[in-house]
Amino acid sequence: MSSSEQNRVAIVTGASRGIGAAIAERLARDGFTTVINYAGRAAEAEALAAKIEAAGGHALTHRADVSDPAAVARMFAAAEAAFGGVDVVVNNAGIMRLAPIAEAEDALVDSQLAINLKGSLNMMREAARRLREGGRIVNLSSSVVGLTPPGYGPYAATKAAVEALTHVLAKELRGRRITVNAVAPGPTATALFLDGKPQAVIDQLAKAAPLERLGQPEDIAAAVAFLAGPDGAWVNGQVLRANGGIV
Ligand code: NAP
Repeated sequence: MSSSEQNRVAIVTGASRGIGAAIAERLARDGFTTVINYAGRAAEAEALAAKIEAAGGHALTHRADVSDPAAVARMFAAAEAAFGGVDVVVNNAGIMRLAPIAEAEDALVDSQLAINLKGSLNMMREAARRLREGGRIVNLSSSVVGLTPPGYGPYAATKAAVEALTHVLAKELRGRRITVNAVAPGPTATALFLDGKPQAVIDQLAKAAPLERLGQPEDIAAAVAFLAGPDGAWVNGQVLRANGGIV
């Protein structure tokens, strides 16, 4: 049986809230059996799984810190044991800690490297070993790679690295009909973006794109769903900036 005839299985990292939760919900609605990965917020992840199941979809929650390679391997094994294989991996888990480079403490730098860069690499490495033929990998970058605003140095660096890995892995998976792409959101209305920002800054950033609003998690989920679904089949090794035109 080809993978298109099987029930397709997607792992979405960092899916307990925000953009990841919207991606998991959207992929489940598109027919994917969905693994909802999270690090700490078990109740939110369970609530999302229950919502997906109530809507007729299939979902499983799995706690794993993506910066831990053994935990990532266990998550793939759990998905394979439950559903027979993995077709789509969305590397969405991420953190954002802002500071000018001159003031960036080691902990701020190291935590973002561990989760955003090494976590994404851990997932890509495992996906490269285990994804079924015809699979899809979608990595979450950020439009700050293009905007390069002050204060975003370490965070933007981890996302630039994720974009580099996207291009390299797309080439390394030649011959398996697996695409590797990145989606790079602009300012999107989630806790990661909103927490700690004065309303004036939020309003200013909301007006910065020609479309004059913040992105919603569902806007980003739509771009990911395109790349994960049949219409995205010919797009490979690309970075899609989903940001209302801010850069
Ligand atoms: P968010 O609301 O803070 O959600 C982050 C998610 O990542 C949570 O589900 C969290 O799980 C999970 N997570 C954090 N550390 C993890 C780890 N070590 N292992 C596994 N999961 C972990 O953030 P968001 O705004 O939705 O961002 C999602 C992605 O989009 C990130 O990669 C971010 O860099 C990117 N992005 C966001 C924006 C924006 O404006 N919001 C713009 C560009 C790019 P727990 O809740 O269980 O801890």
